[in-house]
Amino acid sequence: MSTDQLEALLGVQEHDTARDRLRHRRLTLPERGELEAQNAKLRGLEAQASEVRGRRDVVLADERRLDDEARTLGAKADEADKHLYSGSTNSPRELQAMQADVDMLRRQRSDLEDQELEVMEARETLDGELAALEALAAAVVAEIERLQGLIAVAEGEIDAELAVEDAAWATQAGIVPESLLADYQRRRAQNKGAGAARLVGTSCTACHLSVPSTEAEQIRKSEGVNIAYCDNCGAILVPFAGNEPGADEEKVEELILYCDGGSRGNPGPSAIGAVVFDAATDPPTLIASVSECIGITTNNVAEYKALIGGLDAVAHLHARIVHVRADSLLVIKQLRGEWKVKHTNIKPLYAEARALLAAYEIVDLQHVRRELNTEADALVNQALDAADSY
Ligand SMILES: [Zn+2]
Repeated sequence: MSTDQLEALLGVQEHDTARDRLRHRRLTLPERGELEAQNAKLRGLEAQASEVRGRRDVVLADERRLDDEARTLGAKADEADKHLYSGSTNSPRELQAMQADVDMLRRQRSDLEDQELEVMEARETLDGELAALEALAAAVVAEIERLQGLIAVAEGEIDAELAVEDAAWATQAGIVPESLLADYQRRRAQNKGAGAARLVGTSCTACHLSVPSTEAEQIRKSEGVNIAYCDNCGAILVPFAGNEPGADEEKVEELILYCDGGSRGNPGPSAIGAVVFDAATDPPTLIASVSECIGITTNNVAEYKALIGGLDAVAHLHARIVHVRADSLLVIKQLRGEWKVKHTNIKPLYAEARALLAAYEIVDLQHVRRELNTEADALVNQALDAADSY
């Protein structure tokens, strides 16, 4: 194995992580939930319409029966009427009886026609209800089609991103020997996504625990010839190329620290994330990263603890300059002395941060928007997600 092959393995993992994220996004598009709700609504409307249609059909059958009977009676009355005036009899009594017959038939028909009218009104009311339900269903169908269109577009976009990631993955994977790639994939599946990890100093960036310093030294000296694993999480350890132990301590002069604390609930389960780079190299070299759960607390406490965690991780380097980039306006404004520290739970954290910053000759505190603080933000979410999955 060579250092390049091990480096490529970290590249493979980066693209694996990106692909997992895209697949997850594809499965959990917000439109999918909305589509499901609209489908349920449509099924409800269809059930209602079918129930109304059933009642309407019964009433319609009644209406037709009454109409038939009225017609039959009408025909009988006409027949009897014709017979009355046909001159078949001159008997006044018979003629009177025949007239009574005709009158009775006509009365019966008129009664039936009145009933038919009532039934027809009921049927028309049901027809109206049915039309209204069908109009609602048509609107829901249109909404379903719109959502399906949006999902198709989003899927297309994600698939295009996935294709790019797949190609980048294949390029990196092509560099990694097959046996190492298989080993990595097995470990990644077992270790919640961390099959390989950078060895920073003596610390594994996957689980943030330390390996003995003699072991870390051996791993660095082996330059990838022997594969080393983290004893704690099992990740394949990839040392920084070309960084002899102790070298960092001498040459790091200027640091950039990105930090972020997050709380799901505020207060709620919280975590901190921080990454520290050597500002003198181009591109800046990652020196330390922190990703930890800190229990139930508030967002502001987590933001302070993220900064303190990041400063703690690099305090031993005794750098001269530190640039702090935090997305908490509160932390930055308070440490700059622009805002007062009022909360008693923040005061000790503020003092601790101030003490750590006092070790630097130059302190540059800047607020950055969350979008520009992606790595620290990702480490917070990583810690919270890992805690969630237990
Ligand atoms: Zn580890």
